[in-house]
Amino acid sequence: MADDKRNILLLSKDDLNAFLKRISAKAYIANQIYNWIFKKFVFNFDEMLNISKDMRAILKSEFYFDLPEISTIQKSNDGTKKYLLKLKDGMFIEMVLIPNLKKNTVCISSQVGCARNCNFCATAKLGLVRNLTVAEIVGQILLVSGDLFPNKLTNIVFMGMGEPLDNYDNVVESIRFINREDTLLFSPRRITISTSGVIPGIERLANENLNVKLAVSLNSAINEKRDEIMPINTTYPLEKLKNQLLNFRKKSNFRITFEYIMIANFNMSNSDIKALRKFVGDISCKINLIPWNPVENLPYKSPSKHEIENFRNKLSENLNFAITLRNSRGQDIDAACGQLVAKKISRER
Ligand code: SF4
Repeated sequence: MADDKRNILLLSKDDLNAFLKRISAKAYIANQIYNWIFKKFVFNFDEMLNISKDMRAILKSEFYFDLPEISTIQKSNDGTKKYLLKLKDGMFIEMVLIPNLKKNTVCISSQVGCARNCNFCATAKLGLVRNLTVAEIVGQILLVSGDLFPNKLTNIVFMGMGEPLDNYDNVVESIRFINREDTLLFSPRRITISTSGVIPGIERLANENLNVKLAVSLNSAINEKRDEIMPINTTYPLEKLKNQLLNFRKKSNFRITFEYIMIANFNMSNSDIKALRKFVGDISCKINLIPWNPVENLPYKSPSKHEIENFRNKLSENLNFAITLRNSRGQDIDAACGQLVAKKISRER
């Protein structure tokens, strides 16, 4: 590929129009190209059959499609699909599609690895390798949309590999890109950014006027315990996190979701419930309970069905907020929460 070829997927309509004008081509070709890419998810000029062969040859000589390569797809018994994606520099990331009757949700990655080192998380074992580019983030969304077509992607969660707020600029630019009328017109209201509690990022997001939903991976409302499983808590402890979340809530239309991974014999006692009640008390929120999914070489234990029900019932008695129990999808293919590790990275590094 010639070095000066440009990625057509991120080319602005103005740039595409300017190019077409320069070669004296019809302006409507820009619409045709955008239609193929963002409505039909065709990422190959040869398949754009309403564009002349000569024009397609010119386009091929000037542009390319910068998409991650699908290395493997694993399908779970419950329909969840885990994609192992290879990036241009040979690194791997993972993306998970969770289809159900009404919604098709994709869980995408924002970094290769992660620096936040949460104790319960498989991705943390990799450390941070690098941030994903806008093309790599948008590329995941386009790939999965193409795989789903003619069905539609309805929801996006930044909950795959990486801490999205540690790659703030690229994540926000990607969201703005797919929200454009001439691309996917994907509403930010159907996008959730999940954070381990990066306070400066939450503050920026509150002032960004982006209208996305925020989820916080909480997992304990007791500083000592949260310190133990989430080292970020030593930098941004619960009191500061809470202040920032109250500030965020003032500027957002949506309730905050707290993710709470239930770990047997660790964060499911009466004192944990009491602390949780005190912490979330005046934050308008919902709580999403997630049973711990076993990860190789990690010392934690999954709760039994009885322990889960017991914890959930006690929480419901103590809190007025919506409490949901996330049915962990894709467990048989290591696609459940906290299990994404892009195993090939560790093999090839
Ligand atoms: S849970 Fe999220 S923030 Fe924590 S190490 Fe894993 S990917 Fe990073």
